[in-house]
Amino acid sequence: MALIALMGITYMNIHYVNQVRESTKESIIEKKREQIRTFANQVRSRFLDVPREIWNADIEELKTSIDKSGQLPESLNPLLQKIASDSLYSGIYFHSAETTPCESGTGTWEFSKELNRFVWVNAFPDVVCDGMSLARTRMKVLLSEYKWNTKTTFDTHRSMNIAIVYPNEHRILGYLVVLINYDYLLDNYLKKEIESVFPTESGLFTIWIHDWVTNRVLLTNNANETFERDKIQIVDRFPGLFDNWNIVGSVNSTVSASDVEVQTTKNLIILALTVALLLTSLVFIIYSAQKEQEISIRQSEFLSNVTHELKTPLAVIQAAGENIKDGRVKNPERLHYYGKHIYDEAIRLKTMIERLLDVARFDSNQIKASPQQIFVNQKIEEIIERELPFLQSKGFEPQLSLGAGNLTAWADLGHFETILTNLIENSVKYSSDRKFLKISSAVTSTMVQISVEDHGNGIPKSSIPHIFEKFYRVEDTLTAHTKGHGLGLSIVKQMVNINGGKIRVESEYEKGSIFTFELPLADNRTSSQKKTRKEQTQAHYVTNTAESVV
Ligand code: ADP
Repeated sequence: MALIALMGITYMNIHYVNQVRESTKESIIEKKREQIRTFANQVRSRFLDVPREIWNADIEELKTSIDKSGQLPESLNPLLQKIASDSLYSGIYFHSAETTPCESGTGTWEFSKELNRFVWVNAFPDVVCDGMSLARTRMKVLLSEYKWNTKTTFDTHRSMNIAIVYPNEHRILGYLVVLINYDYLLDNYLKKEIESVFPTESGLFTIWIHDWVTNRVLLTNNANETFERDKIQIVDRFPGLFDNWNIVGSVNSTVSASDVEVQTTKNLIILALTVALLLTSLVFIIYSAQKEQEISIRQSEFLSNVTHELKTPLAVIQAAGENIKDGRVKNPERLHYYGKHIYDEAIRLKTMIERLLDVARFDSNQIKASPQQIFVNQKIEEIIERELPFLQSKGFEPQLSLGAGNLTAWADLGHFETILTNLIENSVKYSSDRKFLKISSAVTSTMVQISVEDHGNGIPKSSIPHIFEKFYRVEDTLTAHTKGHGLGLSIVKQMVNINGGKIRVESEYEKGSIFTFELPLADNRTSSQKKTRKEQTQAHYVTNTAESVV
């Protein structure tokens, strides 16, 4: 239990720390920064699909075609068709490195989707020339070391320019200029991408695409939020393209004070519960340890007690036997005296060994009840009759108050006798001056109840819950001076239980006790058929309310 509580506290703390960390603004900003980076790379990758395919083409074929005709080979037509059909692009131009259309004012090649080939055009937009010169300038620096077939440069958001390179000879073969459809790029492609990656998120995070040259917001996921420099927490770029554009992000206040309060209260309650659980476990552990200790003390007391109890009768038997054996006792009266001594001590020894065996059998579940019909009143009378000489010798005149009606219990007869005898013996043992003993019987709808009442020592309130425990003895002077091992009542209780009954005690210290046990009622029909003659004629002891003295 303690382990579970400890694990609980540890888990809760980790959970709490995690939650606090999760809910901090910094962690959200970090997450969003990461998301923006992924988004920008995704956009770049969409454009780079085009040069990737040229990069994969056969460079020797490209070289031969461009050198020969100043045009790209027809094997690239499918790719060019794909570009021409893509709304993201608005024109495809090519010319070899040998020609300089922008400087000389001559025409260039433009790809016609309908004709599926390049056609020579004299008029073309300036952006084509800008793109080409940008690509040429970039390439000039790199050419001597360059190992790849293509080099792509972006003229901001206007064009994608692919220089086709023949790396073996460190020379440029030509330039492919792909114009970008600005309106489609912003209003369609980027808008949709932003909406899917950064949904409005109940205003928690705002992203803007901002043109820093013109200081204009081009796109946002949250039109309600105005673009202000103070709000900016993240600034990033599209890698290698859209040079004038920034991706700007702002995380709004995330966790409100009341959210924190609710969370803290929740955690405090859990913490309190866990601590309570831990304390309960500790109390339980301490209690169990104390119980264990008590039992082991009682067991060792019991062991020394038993050893002493066994040794005493054996010593008496041994001494008496020795005297007789050696012929020291010849007088018949003395012989009788010694014989009785041996007999009494043997009986005492036997009783004690039987009790010990009973305890051992109960502990190993070996004792089973063999129930039968017991005519309770008759049995009580028999037992009292048998015990009468002993009771009277101790100064008791037992009273019987036996209920009328069909008092037939369904229980083990041997157990019934042991239970009743034990209770009667205890009443005798634990009464000093007031010698009072009353045995009563009664019947309820399902049970037969038998009570044994004395006006003896009584049991202190604090001891009552323990007296049915094994080895338990009340710590008072009378008990200390009375022989016993604290086993009788534990055996009695187990016997009552295995017969389907219950036992209880009402007691007041120095006033007396009433022990009441109940056993299941035998089936009325069967019992009435099997009534013995004695049961039917037991009336001389039995009255409804009157008490009789045996
Ligand atoms: P034992 O009598 O051998 O000590 P029991 O199990 O029969 O063991 O009883 C346990 C304890 O309960 C006794 O030691 C005694 O202190 C107390 N007790 C039992 N019966 C009575 C009684 N009728 N009156 C007062 N105390 C009793």
